[in-house]
Amino acid sequence: MLQLNHLDVCYGSFKALTDVSMTVDSGELVVLLGANGAGKTTLFNAISGLIRPAAGDIRFEDTQLNGMKASAVVAQGVVQCAEGRKLFPQMTVMQNLMMGAFVHRRDRQGNKQRLNEVLALFPILEDKAQQPAGSLSGGQQQMVAIGRALMSRPRLLMLDEPSLGLAPLVVRQMFDTIKKINSLGTTVLLAEQNAFAALKIAHRAYVMENGRLVMEGDRDAMLGNEQVRKAYIGA
Ligand code: ATP
Repeated sequence: MLQLNHLDVCYGSFKALTDVSMTVDSGELVVLLGANGAGKTTLFNAISGLIRPAAGDIRFEDTQLNGMKASAVVAQGVVQCAEGRKLFPQMTVMQNLMMGAFVHRRDRQGNKQRLNEVLALFPILEDKAQQPAGSLSGGQQQMVAIGRALMSRPRLLMLDEPSLGLAPLVVRQMFDTIKKINSLGTTVLLAEQNAFAALKIAHRAYVMENGRLVMEGDRDAMLGNEQVRKAYIGA
């Protein structure tokens, strides 16, 4: 579904990604592991059309994404839920969710149906619908961020560190929900530092260090890999 070939991304003279090649197949939940600054967000931003790669190729099914505007990438069904949630805090929960539906603004019926699906996934958001998004707890704000991304009707959903800053119990619920979103048919690319929890729900994973992919494997191979355990999971 998604294929990256020999991608380089630079910020001025600093090369943030070097020769990144990876694939995500339709239906998969693929995890991208990496420490702070490894380049995960840069990779997502390149796929989303927010940064132009210096070299390489990004294909989504039969479409070349590099060179496309970010809005056109979303219209293709490739949607990023950004690190740090990036909500509109003064706007209500409902207004935030509906911002995600902008790309399908002419399809009112479809948006209504999609909204019902999102509220079924996050029932608490129905109770909070008219509250300012900024007044919600961290976990609830993350639900709004994921819900807003789902309103764009992604076929590939890219989640950037959704567990960041959340309490352990909330993190567990968040990973359960991500697994559910995937099993309901949305392909997921998940960037995480919370390696153990992410690997448990993943089909496959890549490890990124200093802007390069250094390892790849299925869930069990990654969970059993001593290098991965030492660097990302601990004892
Ligand atoms: P984090 O989880 O901390 O966001 P990350 O794996 O997502 O880490 P990136 O944010 O992609 O990493 O950063 C990769 C590298 O690129 C880092 O060295 C970072 O300092 C650098 N970088 C990121 N954005 C910029 C920018 N706008 N200008 C210059 N350098 C940048």
